[in-house]
Amino acid sequence: MDILWILWTIPAVIAVEETLMDSTTATAELGWTVYPVSGSSDNSWEEVSGYDENMNTIRTYQVCNVFDNNQNNWVRTKYIRRRGAQRIHVEMKFSVRDCSSIPNVPGSCKETFNLYYYESDADTATRTSPAWMENPWIKVDTIAADESFSQVDLGGRVMKINTEVRSFGPVSRNGFYLAFQDYGGCMSLIAVRVFYRKCPRIITNGALFQETLSGAESTSLVAARGVCIPNAEEVDVPIKLYCNGDGEWMVPIGRCMCKAGNEAVENGTVCRACPSGFFKPTQGDESCMQCPINSRTTSEGAINCICRNGYYRTDSDPLQMPCTTVPSAPQNVISSVNETSVMLEWMPPRDSGGREDVVFNIICKSCGGGRGGCTRCGDNVQFLPRQLGLTESRVYISDLLAHTQYTFEVQAVNGVSDQSPYSPQYASVNITTNQAAPSTVSIMHQVSRTVDSITLTWSQPDQPNGVILDYELQYYEKDQSEYNSTTIRSQTNTVVIRGLKPGSIYVFQVRARTVAGFGRYSGKMYFQTMTEEEYNTSIQEKLPLIIGSAAAGLVFLIAVVVIIIVCNRRRGFDRADSEYTDKLQHYTSGHMTPGMKIYIDPFTYEDPNEAVREFAKEIDISCVKIEQVIGAGEFGEVCSGNLKLPGKREMFVAIKTLKSGYTEKQRRDFLSEASIMGQFDHPNVIHLEGVVTKSSPVMIITEFMENGSLDSFLRQNDGQFTVIQLVGMLRGIASGMKYLADMNYVHRDLAARNILVNSNLVCKVSDFGLSRFLEDDTSDPTYTSALGGKIPIRWTAPEAIQYRKFTSASDVWSYGIVMWEVMSYGERPYWDMTNQDVINAIEQDYRLPPPMDCPSALHQLMLDCWQKDRNNRPKFSQIVNNLDKMIRNPNMLKAMTPLSSGVHLPLLDRSIPDFSSFSTVDEWLDAIKMGQYKDNFANADFTTFDVVSQMTMDDILRVGVTLAGHQKKILNSVQMMRAQMNQIQSVEV
Ligand code: AMP
Repeated sequence: MDILWILWTIPAVIAVEETLMDSTTATAELGWTVYPVSGSSDNSWEEVSGYDENMNTIRTYQVCNVFDNNQNNWVRTKYIRRRGAQRIHVEMKFSVRDCSSIPNVPGSCKETFNLYYYESDADTATRTSPAWMENPWIKVDTIAADESFSQVDLGGRVMKINTEVRSFGPVSRNGFYLAFQDYGGCMSLIAVRVFYRKCPRIITNGALFQETLSGAESTSLVAARGVCIPNAEEVDVPIKLYCNGDGEWMVPIGRCMCKAGNEAVENGTVCRACPSGFFKPTQGDESCMQCPINSRTTSEGAINCICRNGYYRTDSDPLQMPCTTVPSAPQNVISSVNETSVMLEWMPPRDSGGREDVVFNIICKSCGGGRGGCTRCGDNVQFLPRQLGLTESRVYISDLLAHTQYTFEVQAVNGVSDQSPYSPQYASVNITTNQAAPSTVSIMHQVSRTVDSITLTWSQPDQPNGVILDYELQYYEKDQSEYNSTTIRSQTNTVVIRGLKPGSIYVFQVRARTVAGFGRYSGKMYFQTMTEEEYNTSIQEKLPLIIGSAAAGLVFLIAVVVIIIVCNRRRGFDRADSEYTDKLQHYTSGHMTPGMKIYIDPFTYEDPNEAVREFAKEIDISCVKIEQVIGAGEFGEVCSGNLKLPGKREMFVAIKTLKSGYTEKQRRDFLSEASIMGQFDHPNVIHLEGVVTKSSPVMIITEFMENGSLDSFLRQNDGQFTVIQLVGMLRGIASGMKYLADMNYVHRDLAARNILVNSNLVCKVSDFGLSRFLEDDTSDPTYTSALGGKIPIRWTAPEAIQYRKFTSASDVWSYGIVMWEVMSYGERPYWDMTNQDVINAIEQDYRLPPPMDCPSALHQLMLDCWQKDRNNRPKFSQIVNNLDKMIRNPNMLKAMTPLSSGVHLPLLDRSIPDFSSFSTVDEWLDAIKMGQYKDNFANADFTTFDVVSQMTMDDILRVGVTLAGHQKKILNSVQMMRAQMNQIQSVEV
């Protein structure tokens, strides 16, 4: 069956003939045995010398007894060893006299003779044995001449010589004799050659076959197994050839092929390694291929070519494809700015790197913030069709900030860009957006009302497009013409409109103002003052409950809560104009700012779950989609996700979860934050969207603040903002705190870590958890356990540390610390001092020094917040006003606290370390966190404190410090070094 497999060709190889006996090579007499013995009667075979056709002397046997009847003349060769052969071939050269050419010849004249063989294990034949007859001899054939001759030429030169070959087998004994029987002919046996055949050693079809003896029969096939030649591998198995009786190979089966990295040469008999510069990726018959462009081999026998430096291949690039490189930069970027959007168009790169998969990415940086460098744009910037992987050479970018300088880098990337160690090449374009006014205010709420006043509050526009200087509120009585409207300005987003008519509906519209001017007015909103009747009813209702004392504290709050619980069991509490706000207004008027809502401690509720129901909206879990974990809260993970409430746009939210296995108390504490947060509605206070309490896990869902907590955000962006931007953030925090203070809420843990920052850099006060003040767990070193709760010492006013007097004034102290954290970009207050050292230092009237580059006006405000007597500290409303003034008059922020000179270094200024505690400039650079410039300093030979202390701004620029924030830091530190040197000198003097 094998034989029917694939038949490969075999190169023609001449069969090998192995001679066992050759009469022509005899140098002396052949000495064969003759019968009958010569001379006894007629002449039998006779050994005669003669010549062959090449005139070599040879020994022949002749017989010619044609005139005698009954001839039976035998000649027997000597014993011939078989030597493993199974089939024996006999080549006979002879001449025969044509009987008809002999005159008077009798009819018994023959022209043929017989060939016999006789097998024997040893040379045992004698003159009489084996007998001279057919049996025991075995007849091979009767041999006839093809051509006989008629003329006897004794020289033998014109004799017609016949050559006949006969074969016999199988033979199995050690050897044999041949015999030639003449029975009345005239002939000459010129040469006898005895041989066997074998198939030679051969390499074919990638395999080596050893020499193989042919079989016993002429038709037999002897199978031989082949072995793959070096560097070849089997493709089809088994690998076989058959050796036929004639010593010829036939019927090849299976084959080997050169391995990858090797090619067949020398007629397929050798697999040779591909020379250098060539490769062969797979096993097979193909030749090695030349390395494609931009690639090379590292050794012979390569199965692929590796790309030259700077050239690459993607996983899907074929090996035959040239290696490619990154594209050059796009060309001719042009921009057209339209207010706060820009269209960018460009030409494709001159060099695509040899690829066709070039796409473009846009990197957006907002620049020129003054304090140095550019920052990546926030997520709110929109790119159409997309920001990354643009196939077209244009993009439309919108939602940029107004009046801001941007740099756009258009990167060209292709399939191999991410393999290059270098960032993609880009072309950049700088643009400045035009001024754009703030967007419209979308939501306005009524906080409270009386007969002649309405208190309104509204949210900041989604896109302020700058620092909001103030708001303009326009209102008129609904029945009057719009032309009779009144406008009032407010620096906050809450205003009390007085002097209104009782029981009248008024139309209100508000708009924000920045340096770019006014935004558009909001839609019209209608609010109504109380009628006298309503007012009187409410006065009567409240009379028993009015507490005239200015010290209305907890008792008062509980009273309010009781009233609310009793009177207002309404679900779906609506803070805009609910009964609740009205009632609250009644009870509080005369006690606080008229119309101000106050905060209710959820723990004053008998059932705190009631507070959750009252103040937090229950959200169905099906509306919430959690996306990823962004942080760890006290009670479980904090995640980001999406909230899609029916009929509202999907929004990005933060989701705080309560980990499973909580106790009832933990659940209550966790949800207390929602009950508190839910009472607030201010653009600078984190906004509660709702809670999930009816399914597990329990969740608190708030608006999402893209930039996370303020302390880490500042540390990540050290030196990247303008003073105005920092003051803008501080103003937001102060505004949120003013709102909370106005609601009688004392935060007790105001710190940069508890402020969240959104993508518009709006800061919002967060973290209203109460639990840490209640539990005695000291695992977090920020909070030190004191009698009755834990206190964040560095942020807390002395009276709160000493006798737990937490008030809005103690929040103001903490606010001063937040100011310091902001102006120092997230430095730890009081650095590495111990809490006890901090307490002692404060007690001795030491205060934090101005952070680097901090305007004196701001440091002065901090110092005001840190007044020992809390009554001397500013109120949050004053702080907001103060900061607003600075924003309006940036000149106020120009003056810096002068650097101390001589011996009077600021006592607490550890922000700039004393250079003398370092032995090298490198160590000093590390200490001022500018270690990245060590090489720059060394290369420019600024390697000793003497030379460094003389550095000017020009020198700092020249060594290659390009970020403005870093330049200032180094310059300040150099100046400090100079001051410290002077001090040392004056001490030495
Ligand atoms: P908290 O339990 O409030 O201290 O939150 C833990 C961390 O989660 C914070 O430090 C923030 O990094 C993150 N996080 C909390 N609330 C928000 C939010 N509304 N938006 C974005 N990140 C938040």
